[in-house]
Amino acid sequence: MSVPQEAAPLDLLVVGCGAGGLTVAQAFLEEVDRDGRSPRVVLLERAPRAERGGATRWSWVNVTVDTDGVVDPGVIARILTSHPDVDEEYFRVIEREGAATVAWLEEHGVQIAHQRPPFAMANDYGAMVGGGASLVEAFCALLEAREGVEIRYDTEALRLTTDADGRVDGVIARGPDGLTRRLAADAVVLATGGFEGSLEAVTRYVGQRAGQIRHVVPGLRFNTGDGLRMATELGAATAGQFDRLHVQLVDERTSKPDAGIFGIPYGVIVDGRGRRFVDEGSATAEALNAPLAWSVWRDHDATASFVFDARAARIPGWEFLNQSDIQPYRADTLAELAGLIGVDPAALEDEITRFNAAVGDGDFDPGVLDGRRTHGLDIDKTNWALPIEEAPFFAYPLATASTFSYGGIRIDLEGRVVTPRGTAIPGLYGAGVVTGVWYGEYPGAMSVLRTVTFARRTGAEIAAARVPIH
Ligand SMILES: Cc1cc2nc3c(=O)[nH]c(=O)nc-3n(C[C@H](O)[C@H](O)[C@H](O)COP(=O)(O)OP(=O)(O)OC[C@H]3O[C@@H](n4cnc5c(N)ncnc54)[C@H](O)[C@@H]3O)c2cc1C
Repeated sequence: MSVPQEAAPLDLLVVGCGAGGLTVAQAFLEEVDRDGRSPRVVLLERAPRAERGGATRWSWVNVTVDTDGVVDPGVIARILTSHPDVDEEYFRVIEREGAATVAWLEEHGVQIAHQRPPFAMANDYGAMVGGGASLVEAFCALLEAREGVEIRYDTEALRLTTDADGRVDGVIARGPDGLTRRLAADAVVLATGGFEGSLEAVTRYVGQRAGQIRHVVPGLRFNTGDGLRMATELGAATAGQFDRLHVQLVDERTSKPDAGIFGIPYGVIVDGRGRRFVDEGSATAEALNAPLAWSVWRDHDATASFVFDARAARIPGWEFLNQSDIQPYRADTLAELAGLIGVDPAALEDEITRFNAAVGDGDFDPGVLDGRRTHGLDIDKTNWALPIEEAPFFAYPLATASTFSYGGIRIDLEGRVVTPRGTAIPGLYGAGVVTGVWYGEYPGAMSVLRTVTFARRTGAEIAAARVPIH
């Protein structure tokens, strides 16, 4: 194929404009600045400018760090024991460098605030003020203000190019005019996010019916697994669990982005037959949600409803837990509510009657695992068990929605893409979700932290690799 080539090779070409790509570019430039060099850097962004930033743009960006930026060692321990293939060295780096990552983000105008909601949480969290959009805007502004740096919107990378020895030396990209061009570069970073945006890839890796899983936000449609495809075409190794997506429960009726339904620990969840199937009090709202959303899709025919009563709806901060733009179904009786969510009225009444009868004594406290539980049910509820008895009764019909895929390409600790025997492919790097690390357990609030921590290292590594600056 004969493809027009742009003039001089770039010093760095980054594919993707989310937390991973933006961080690599910025960290590279800061390292190069120390040498007084003037590099040329291009970032390719498939999305139009107004939608730049992939998943990052839509992310809440909770971060598992305490007020000093320290990553909870308990969370790292949980990740390390979740699966034998988890890369311990990778997570030890995050444990060591997490605080420096947070400090670096703050130096660049991105604030992390600590304000605990009135609900029990699994981890100690900070949250990015303004969410991930604040990161995207701050870093794009820094990069676009710099001479020699350009973000090309509406431009998608198609494939990598190599020299005669197999060193990655550029990318073929399709621009907004529909034409392809080759951009030569001394180093190429794949930061294309996950494959959740491709129905074909989701079906291939995750399996039958996975196409039913909707996107939690529209930005995911740009993430079609291209980095994974381009790198594996050159022999890159893969890592992470390929048949698993990170998912969450949303209001089934709405197309509002990020219509998360998190209140389930304070009510009950029933399947399409009106039956409970999980201990809703087994974990905090955010820790329960992803495994439960996965189970609803995989084991319960993608059909479930969250049922609660007037007393639960008065819990302070309820609207923080349930982010739909549509009011829940509301009824004066459970039988009427059952009709609204499409389950057998007698079955739902029977289920809730048995649940209510099993609720024990104790103080209800949504701020801690309160131990207020049921006794004697096939599936007991072990915290926050309140009888569902005060009309009106409410229900949200639920759907499972994806946030990111787990499987990706394998990198080493410097962000170099490696082959199955661990050899780095010269000139090729990966950053963010395109690099696979999760197996089963994703503890929450770690994706941006791990992305930025490693993307910083990768930017510095590329600069230090002393490729000639043109
Ligand atoms: C609603 C929501 C809430 C979340 N909350 C949290 C949270 O609280 N804490 C947390 O840590 N994580 C959270 N996450 C996950 C986290 O935001 C993402 O995992 C992370 O931001 C991904 O960063 P990234 O740079 O790897 O990918 P992305 O931000 O998705 O960026 C990928 C980029 O690649 C571009 N691209 C893809 N293919 C091509 C191509 N061929 N050519 C050119 N460009 C291409 C895309 O357009 C995009 O710019 C959340 C995610 C969502 C959706």
